[in-house]
Amino acid sequence: MDTQIIIDISVIVPIYNEEGNLLPLYERLKKVISDITPSHEFIFVNDGSSDRSMEIIKSLAEADAKVRYINLSRNFGHQNAVSAGIDYTKGEAVVIIDGDLQDPPELIAPMYEKLQRGYEVVYAKRKSREGESFMKKFTAKIFYRLLARMTSFSIPVDTGDFRIIHRKVAEALRRMPETNKFLRGQIAWIGYKQTFIEYERAKRHAGKTGYTYKKMISFALNGITGFSNVPIKFVTLTGFFVSGVAFFMILYSFYVRYYDPINYERGWASLMTGIMFLGGVQLISIGILGEYISRINNDVRKRPLYFIQEHNLED
Ligand code: UDP
Ligand code: MG
Repeated sequence: MDTQIIIDISVIVPIYNEEGNLLPLYERLKKVISDITPSHEFIFVNDGSSDRSMEIIKSLAEADAKVRYINLSRNFGHQNAVSAGIDYTKGEAVVIIDGDLQDPPELIAPMYEKLQRGYEVVYAKRKSREGESFMKKFTAKIFYRLLARMTSFSIPVDTGDFRIIHRKVAEALRRMPETNKFLRGQIAWIGYKQTFIEYERAKRHAGKTGYTYKKMISFALNGITGFSNVPIKFVTLTGFFVSGVAFFMILYSFYVRYYDPINYERGWASLMTGIMFLGGVQLISIGILGEYISRINNDVRKRPLYFIQEHNLED
């Protein structure tokens, strides 16, 4: 995957069932990007769409030689689709943007300008988000703040993958081998000079979200397990705490056994409470360890992040 740098800007757009968005998206992107520089490429990564998205992308590619596509062999998920794009970009600057027009393409101009002033990452921070459920906004808000407290470096809150990065950062991403991608965390972890601009996140132009709750939870767990060992430390601390309590319970039961014959052999409730409590703590702890182990498992297998069915990339 040796990519020469021959152009100014690459724009990566992951696409999963966005047939209603592709044309207006392309129009707006094309306008903004050609105003900045004629030296650009669009990389549409089709992530196993089941609608007409791929046909539309191909017709765009026929009309505009700067449109590249990577058609993945199935749905590998948003993060893998973006990673596929990053693997093949040639740009000095690389834009990552959603395909549903929630990220306004017009924002790329000021973001690019900031990048030119010597930053390596300019991310777009959501001041507000329109047209998303209360549950999604609420869980996202809690998640990003929790994650920020659990990591030793700072992952920006209220920020998606909409950003512009320098080629250096794209190259750094290619060198990070983890299978469970959490790109916004990885980019924060990479470092360099980073800044942001704020924006109002629009609602989806057409279609519906490709992020089911299942995908969201596994994405959130990738973020936590990939960048923090706090949950494991929490397991250890809970273990110490519970053992401490258990120690006093043991002393108490000896006391009852020898000095309190009236209460001796009663205590069904306290016994049950103890068993239930310990059972709960143990299962949660095993679960937390399991989340880490399943990810280690994925990394040990070293399976490719995606397979490509067809593409129109050069060479
Ligand atoms: N997407 C993808 N693969 C998936 C789910 C989503 O490539 O499995 C793309 C989708 O087409 C969009 C971006 O990732 O361009 C963000 O997804 P979506 O808008 O569904 O997520 P939300 O904005 O609701 O969090
Ligand atoms: Mg969206």
